[in-house]
Amino acid sequence: MIIKDIQFEVKRFRFEEPMKIAFAEIVDMETCIVKVLTDEGFIGYGEAAPFPYVTGDNLSTVISVGRDLRDGLVGMDPRAIGSIHHKMDSMYAGNTAIKAGIDIACYDIASKAAGVPLYKFLGGDDPHIHSDVTIGIDTPDRMAAAALAWVNKGFEIIKVKLGEDIETDAERIRAIREAVGETIRIRIDANQGWSVRDSIRISRTLDRLGVDLIEQPVPEHDFEGLAEIRRNSDVRIAADESCHSIYDASRLMKMRACDIVNIKLMKCGGIYNAIKISAICEAAGIRCMIGCMGESTLANLAGMHLAAATDNIREVDLDSVYILKQEDVYGGYDHDGGHVTLWETPGIGCKVKGEQ
Ligand SMILES: [Mg+2]
Repeated sequence: MIIKDIQFEVKRFRFEEPMKIAFAEIVDMETCIVKVLTDEGFIGYGEAAPFPYVTGDNLSTVISVGRDLRDGLVGMDPRAIGSIHHKMDSMYAGNTAIKAGIDIACYDIASKAAGVPLYKFLGGDDPHIHSDVTIGIDTPDRMAAAALAWVNKGFEIIKVKLGEDIETDAERIRAIREAVGETIRIRIDANQGWSVRDSIRISRTLDRLGVDLIEQPVPEHDFEGLAEIRRNSDVRIAADESCHSIYDASRLMKMRACDIVNIKLMKCGGIYNAIKISAICEAAGIRCMIGCMGESTLANLAGMHLAAATDNIREVDLDSVYILKQEDVYGGYDHDGGHVTLWETPGIGCKVKGEQ
C-alpha cells in the first residue's frame, strides 16, 4: 500500500462559551482535517489543530508545510509510521500539529487495514476511558455554577483553569469545592501563570481543598522551578507546556521535576511520539495524562484510543468534544458524563461530514 495524495481542509469551530486561560481567551478554533489517500482505497483521516501560543505554528504554516510534507511522503507505505516520522523530521523541525495530523491519518489507515479499532491496533483491550471537563477562568461564583452544571451532567472530574493572583485563585477553588461537594475530583491548571513562590504558597491551600493535581504552575522553560515546587508541594505537579518532545520528557524525568506529564498529540507530533514519551515516563515511574487544546472530535478520539491502549496513560483530559460547537466530525464514541466507550468500528471510528 502506498500514499497517493494528502489533502487538507480547513474547519472553524466555536467554543460553547469563550474559554479564558492564564495567557489567552479563546473564542473559536481553526483546525485542519488531513485526508491521506492510498492506492488500495483506504482513506485515513487526521487532524492538525495548531495552537500558536503553545505549538508555535498556525493554520497557514500547517497548510504550507503540509503540502511540502505531502510531496515527500507520496509513494511511502502509510503503515511505515516510524519511517514517515523520520522523513517528516528530516524535512522540517517542529511543526508538530501538521505532523500529528498526518500521523493520526496514517494510524487510521493502518488500523482500518488491520480491521480493528485503533485502540486494539495499539495493543489495548478495553474501550473505556474516563475524562475530565474543563472550566475557564471567571469569577468564583460563576465558576462554581459552571462546575456544578457539569457535575449535574454526570462528570466526576473537573479541571479548573487558574493562573491569576493566588488569593482570587484560592477563592475560586473554595467556591467550586463548596458547590460540588467532597467526592468530585478537582485538578487545576495554572497555564504558566504563577511564580515558584506563589505556587508553593497556594499548593498548601489547594491541598486542604482536596485538589489532586497542579498543572504547569510556572513558565514552560522553568524546569528548575517546577522541580522546586514539586519538592515543596503535597499536591502532585504536572508538566504540560514544558513537555513537547522525548527530549523534554527525558530532562523532566532526570530532574525529577514532575509527578505526571500531560501529553498532547498536537505538541509532540502525534501518536508515535506520544507512545515514546509515555515509555520514557513509565521507566522513571511517572504516569501520564493525555490532553487536548481545542481540537475537534477527530483528534480527541485519536487521543482516547491511545489512552485506552496505554497502561501508563492513566489520566484523560480530552474534553473539547464537550465544549466545542461542531457537527462536522461525529460518532466514534458514546459517553455518560466523562465515562467514554469507544466504538468497535475499524480505525478511529468517527465520520467527517461530506466524506464517505
Ligand atoms: Mg495544560
